[in-house]
Amino acid sequence: QKHALNDMYEAHDLLRKFYHHLLVNTKQGQEALEYLLQRGFTMESIEKFQLGYSLDSWDYVHNFLKKRDFSIERMESAGLLVRRENGENYFDRFRNRIMFPIFDRQGKTIAFSGRALVKGDEPKYLNSPETPLFNKSKVVYNYHLARPFIRKKGAAVLFEGFADCISADRALVHNGIATMGTALTEQHIQLLKRSTDTIIICYDSDAPGIEAANKTADMIRDHGMHVKIALMPNGYDPDDYIKEFGEEKFQTDIIGAAHTYISFKMIYHKRGKNFANEGDKMDYIESVLRETAKIDSEVEREFYLRQIAAEFTLSLESLLNQQSKVGKHKK
Ligand code: ATP
Ligand code: MN
Ligand code: MN
Ligand code: MN
Repeated sequence: QKHALNDMYEAHDLLRKFYHHLLVNTKQGQEALEYLLQRGFTMESIEKFQLGYSLDSWDYVHNFLKKRDFSIERMESAGLLVRRENGENYFDRFRNRIMFPIFDRQGKTIAFSGRALVKGDEPKYLNSPETPLFNKSKVVYNYHLARPFIRKKGAAVLFEGFADCISADRALVHNGIATMGTALTEQHIQLLKRSTDTIIICYDSDAPGIEAANKTADMIRDHGMHVKIALMPNGYDPDDYIKEFGEEKFQTDIIGAAHTYISFKMIYHKRGKNFANEGDKMDYIESVLRETAKIDSEVEREFYLRQIAAEFTLSLESLLNQQSKVGKHKK
């Protein structure tokens, strides 16, 4: 059994090097390299994150592995080859994609995610399946490099995508991590909790990203951790933002200016509402009362309620009164 796992690790390591070589040194990888550079990736981050390119071929990796005496069935279990539906044949899982190696906590390659080069080539990101090496609900992208910085900064910055994590690293945000295109899990939280008590969510500032940030913020808070939420102008993701506005502005105006949980909730509940409409206004006030009722500190709760009182010319007393009806902090 150990033999099987060792083989899988070895194959991943060889392929990581091979894909990387193809990207940086060969004619076949040139288009992919140009694509990355034009997107703002630097050679330095291509090296650091060991990005690669998989050939536009159905059997190159298959032959590569066969020549090196790997068991083909085992390579299928490792997620590198796919078995044809009816037959004995196998083909390469990753073809004509930008390859992002996924590392474990020791820095060993355990999986890949491949981004389509051709627009409309679905899915946009193709991940390794679940294998004996790779469990996506446990793996945190970039954790092996980010961990010392997470400790030093006292916080981890959580991104939606690999590209965001890599661009943020270029912008000197070295404590960035990402999940594998899935929601944050209980297991991810338990892992992160060992290094920090604070997570800064920096998901895409589009509708799905903001919805996901809202859910994730609640979940992190329910696990007794501190949470902040960084927001960008509407529609941007961190990678786009850094490319357009620069690295420094990302550090100071986005990560440095991340919202507190309640301040984010106020923005979240405001979205799509029209305060000229009484119903919308009441919904908003009720939502904020419900959110602020979760705050344990009386001083902090009052701070936010005063903001609402000022914004809607209401008295603090009537807000506190109303809150005792909706929230858990009953007087
Ligand atoms: P890019 O900038 O390269 O277009 P992105 O990171 O901005 O990529 P998003 O569409 O915002 O891409 O998706 C965020 C993350 O979700 C990706 O990094 C990837 O992990 C995951 N993801 C996106 N699309 C898919 C897909 N079709 N299948 C699986 N995972 C996906
Ligand atoms: Mn997105
Ligand atoms: Mn995105
Ligand atoms: Mn993007």
